[in-house]
Amino acid sequence: MKYLKTEGLVIRSRSYSEADKLLTLFTLERGKVPAIAKGACKAKSKLGASVQMFTRGEFFLYMGRTLATVTQSEIKNSFHSLQYDLVKYAYGQYFCELVGRLMEENEPNREVYELLLAAFEFLSKEIDADILARSFELKLLRILGYMPHLDGCLACSGLNSSYRLSYKEGGILCQSCSIRDPGAFKISLGTLSLLKKLLYADFTRLKVLKVELSQKREIKAINKKFFNHNLGLGTCKSMTFLEELKN
Ligand SMILES: [Zn+2]
Repeated sequence: MKYLKTEGLVIRSRSYSEADKLLTLFTLERGKVPAIAKGACKAKSKLGASVQMFTRGEFFLYMGRTLATVTQSEIKNSFHSLQYDLVKYAYGQYFCELVGRLMEENEPNREVYELLLAAFEFLSKEIDADILARSFELKLLRILGYMPHLDGCLACSGLNSSYRLSYKEGGILCQSCSIRDPGAFKISLGTLSLLKKLLYADFTRLKVLKVELSQKREIKAINKKFFNHNLGLGTCKSMTFLEELKN
């Protein structure tokens, strides 16, 4: 099949030459698709607006061997407000980088698609973007099969008043089972409860969460280690940019 019509999100968009743009689309039909939008940088281009970062659109693609060509496109949602708010743009870019790095070509995943789309929608509303990001990370880990076990000790299922978090084991251990991983560290019940809310609650329910700055930092570090341990993610360029922006 040389031609493909698919809904997709623009997760990377950069000028390639004076006239063309190189894109990465995350599509419903084919997962990640590298594509070129010829002439998209020209003022009169019909493609121009639809190949901006975060755009949700219907894309008509000619599938080349290594690169697709966007022949036509229709915008479904441009997430316009994200283009003009540098901090929100940076968060959006971070979500895109995670998906771009963790998903493969020809590997469609509707759950990841819907998660990313929902993240764009909520990011463009009044929401604590930090909380949204932590929830996005945990939900993405769950979809990719690396959900941290947070309900009772993962070894003995025991409910306890004190737990240790183990990246190696992928969740929490009670005191007696924590000998399984000497690297496991104590996690407060408050942080544990917050992690669970971020993992399970819909984005709509995040609004009511009141989170201290210290707890935000703690959860950010925890999530980062889960990504590094399970997926070898390393540093995200967009996260570094975001941190510089906020300092
Ligand atoms: Zn146990």
